[in-house]
Amino acid sequence: MKLYSTNNPSSSVSFKEAVFNSMPQDKGLYMPVSIPRLDDKFINNLDSYTLPEIAFHVAQNLLGDDIPAADLKAIIDDAINFYAPIVELEENVYVLELFHGPSLAFKDFGARFMSRVMSYFLEEGEKQLDILVATSGDTGGAVALGFLGVPNTRVTILYPKGKVSQIQELQLTTNGQNIRAIEVDGTFDDCQALVKQAFTDAELNEKFRLTSANSINIARLIPQTFYYFNAYAQALKQGKSRVVFSVPSGNFGNIGAGILAWKMGLPVEQFIAATNANDTVPEFLKTGVYQPKPSVATLSNAMDVGNPSNWVRIADMFKDKPEQLKALIIGYRYDDEETLKAIHQVFDHYKYVVCPHTAIAWQALKDYQQDKHTSADVAGIFLSTAHPCKFPDVFDEEISKHIDMPEQVKAIRSKQKLAVELGTDFAGFKEYLLKNG
Ligand SMILES: *Cc1c(COP(=O)(O)O)cnc(C)c1O
Repeated sequence: MKLYSTNNPSSSVSFKEAVFNSMPQDKGLYMPVSIPRLDDKFINNLDSYTLPEIAFHVAQNLLGDDIPAADLKAIIDDAINFYAPIVELEENVYVLELFHGPSLAFKDFGARFMSRVMSYFLEEGEKQLDILVATSGDTGGAVALGFLGVPNTRVTILYPKGKVSQIQELQLTTNGQNIRAIEVDGTFDDCQALVKQAFTDAELNEKFRLTSANSINIARLIPQTFYYFNAYAQALKQGKSRVVFSVPSGNFGNIGAGILAWKMGLPVEQFIAATNANDTVPEFLKTGVYQPKPSVATLSNAMDVGNPSNWVRIADMFKDKPEQLKALIIGYRYDDEETLKAIHQVFDHYKYVVCPHTAIAWQALKDYQQDKHTSADVAGIFLSTAHPCKFPDVFDEEISKHIDMPEQVKAIRSKQKLAVELGTDFAGFKEYLLKNG
C-alpha cells in the first residue's frame, strides 16, 4: 500500500512510514494511492464470514504485501477479539454496538489495531516507541488499553483534571506497566498544547522516539472500516440488503472509515453525519461553505470538534465529484436539550440506554427516515460509539438504574489510581519526561 498526502497528490510513502509519521510534514493527511474495490462475490456473501475473517480480507486488499498474510491474520485475531453486533430496536432501526472492547468505545478498534501494527513494524534493537496522547476521555482509554503490555512501547496520557468521568479516569490511571497517566490541572486544550509542544521540542525528540496516537493515523482509520462491512453482513442475515448508517461525528474519523468502506464497494445508500452543536459539517452540507469554528462544550463531549481533522480525507475522496459527496452524506445537528430528549425517548421506546453521542445518531436516523420517507426495505443502522456507563452524569436515576455494568468496569473498580499531577506549563511537563526517561 502506498499513500500520498492530501496536500501533495504526487507524494508517496509506505504504510510503515505513514503509521509512524501519523501526519505528513506538509500537514495534509495520508490517503491510499489506490482504494481497491472488493469483488462482488465477497460483498454479496458477506453474511458467510465472521468479523475477523471480514477484517482480514478488507485489510489484506488495502495493505497488499506490506504485512505478510499470516502476520496480518495474527494481528487481526489479536486486535479484533470482541463483538460488534447489530441489535434491532424496532422495524428498520438497528443499533450497531461498538462498545464491547476493553475501553467500552469504538476507538478500541483503531487503537488495538494501530498498537499491534506499530509493534510489528518496530525492529529488534530499535529505540522504544514513546506515544504521547492528550485525551478528553475516550481516546486515552482506548490507547492505554490498546498498548498495555505491547513490547517496546510506552504511553504517556495527559488528561484534564476533573473533566473526565470516573470510569474514564480509572481506565487511564489503573494500568501501570508501560502506561503513565498525567493529570493536568487545566483543560483538554491545555493537554493538547503540551503534547504538541513536546513534538516540536528538539531535546525531547533527541532523547525519545516520540509518536502520536491520534485519530488521524491511517492505522486507526483502516480497522474502523471492518465493522461497517460486518454490520452489513448482519443486515444481510436479516434479509436486508439496503442500508443507511447514522454516525455520531466529531473528528469525522468514524464516518470517514464508513465512506472508505463504501469506496471499496460496500453498498451503503446514505451516510448520516450526526453532530452536536459543533455543526461545521452539517452547515457545509447545507450551505456549501466550510467554515471551521472554535469548539463549544456539550454533553456529547467526544464530539466537541469545531474543525474536524478527518474532513479533508472525506473531501479528498470526492475531489472530482463534489456532487456525489453531497448525495451520499446528509447532516443533522442537535443541541444538548435535544440530546437529553433523545436519551429519554430511546429509553421510553425500547428500554435501552444510549450514551449522549449515540442518542444524537439515533435522533438523526429517526428524523432522516421521516424526512425522506425511506422505504420499508431499507435498514437504518445507527452507531453506538460508547457504553453509557462512561457518561453517568447525563442520566437521571431511573435511567441510571438500567445501565448494566460491564465486566471491564468491575475489573478496574478495585484498582488503585496511579497518576502524576502537573500544571499547564510546558517546562514542568518537559522536566517530568526527562526525569522519568
Ligand atoms: C471519538 C468519539 C466520537 C467521535 O468520533 P469521530 O471519529 O471523532 O467522529 C463519537 N462518540 C464517542 C463516544 C467517541 O468517543
